[in-house]
Amino acid sequence: MNTSTRLFVDMDGTLARFHDEVQYLERMWEKDFFRNLKPFENMVKAIKQLAEQEPEIEIYILSAAIDGEPPFCYRQKNQWLDEQLPEIDNFHRIFTKVGAPKSEYIPGGIDKNDFLLDDYNKNLDEWLEFGGSSVKCVNNINHKGRIGKLWDGELVRTEDTPERICSQLTDIIYGSRGPVISKTYGGRR
Ligand SMILES: [Mg+2]
Repeated sequence: MNTSTRLFVDMDGTLARFHDEVQYLERMWEKDFFRNLKPFENMVKAIKQLAEQEPEIEIYILSAAIDGEPPFCYRQKNQWLDEQLPEIDNFHRIFTKVGAPKSEYIPGGIDKNDFLLDDYNKNLDEWLEFGGSSVKCVNNINHKGRIGKLWDGELVRTEDTPERICSQLTDIIYGSRGPVISKTYGGRR
């Protein structure tokens, strides 16, 4: 059972400027596409700050990787992290299959003290459904009300300063944390 507070951070659209690349859906198969994505610098810095200031929050990467043989996407994402966010070690990097609920990849399931920071409402909604807590990452392209309903839960913005993002995440995580309740939840294992 998880009794710690964990933050799971998405990559594409949250830490990495995936959608800024021209024709990203075609180009993501190109050599080193994922490795060369530019970071959302303030978000990356905010995660570094959070890791330093709040060591009791266990920070993980939780990112979907497209299939391939050899598994180029995993490798490139690891290289990107080695360069941009080496504070998150290999043990704290979880890669999922595209389309599968992210909570399925967390051994033992998730609870309220497990926070997902992600730019995609579908991932955030599924995380809530499985018992976790969700924080939307508002980037330069989403949260404009063009597709589906606007996210009305907690959010942080990539354009804010690292200090502000970090303090908002801290407030959200500690603000909504009640007493640790034993998990009756289950989720998919
Ligand atoms: Mg994303």
